[in-house]
Amino acid sequence: MARRKKIYEGKAKTLYEGPEPGTIVQYFKDDATAFNAQKKDVIEGKGVLNNLLSEYFMLGLINIGVPTHFLRRLNMREQLVRSCEIIPLEVIVRNFAAGSLATRLGIEEGTQLPRPVVEYCYKDDKLGDPLVTEEHIAAFGWASQQDMDDILSLALRVNDFLSGVMYGVGIKLIDFKIEIGRVFDGDFQRLVVADEISPDSCRLWDIETGQKLDKDVFRRDLGSLTDAYTEVARRLGVLPKGTAPAKPTLIN
Ligand code: 5GP
Repeated sequence: MARRKKIYEGKAKTLYEGPEPGTIVQYFKDDATAFNAQKKDVIEGKGVLNNLLSEYFMLGLINIGVPTHFLRRLNMREQLVRSCEIIPLEVIVRNFAAGSLATRLGIEEGTQLPRPVVEYCYKDDKLGDPLVTEEHIAAFGWASQQDMDDILSLALRVNDFLSGVMYGVGIKLIDFKIEIGRVFDGDFQRLVVADEISPDSCRLWDIETGQKLDKDVFRRDLGSLTDAYTEVARRLGVLPKGTAPAKPTLIN
């Protein structure tokens, strides 16, 4: 069998040329990194869980009419996606204060925000993905005003969808990060939700106990990351039948 052409290797995923033009295979690795890759580990099974969870969220978004790059899951570690030009921004939506917002503004983690707060970071590992304003985005031509209107609308729709889905399984969506891609149909450009949506890129707290079920478990050494992600997958019903339940070994 012909070897696939690797297009890009990131911290958590590798991208290969897809079987048809305009498609890409996203391979989910088990590598976990935090603090701009200063903390690293390999967490067995993380890639499988994120592949299944990202498929679940992307399909849900498509079903409510939010465009995404997702085409289909290929196997336990790979999914086929539409090739797109990634806008070099991390789009962050926050419902409760946590992480860098809590630190930057001195707000206690867990405080509900008066409304969803949308932030943009410039995607550049060397610079540590700095927070930027719409002024920077316009001045440096990363996205047009029309793009920004569409990005805001996509981000808020994803927020409403994810908040509702997670609420239904007893989990509070604290915040999340998405990436947006441009796809071209001839001369026509559309923006789609790209990359992945998984506990790597969200903060998820159990509504009853406040237990963290996301990558903060790894960032802050709070227990087993696999157990946390398995718990999210179990509650959403996305684990293949016969998967052993998560052991209750998490600490807060
Ligand atoms: P914070 O700015 O508080 O560190 O992160 C806000 C949200 O965006 C969190 O849910 C966090 O997981 C997500 N996030 C921010 N930067 C990145 C990143 O570079 N990679 C991933 N996977 N998620 C990120």
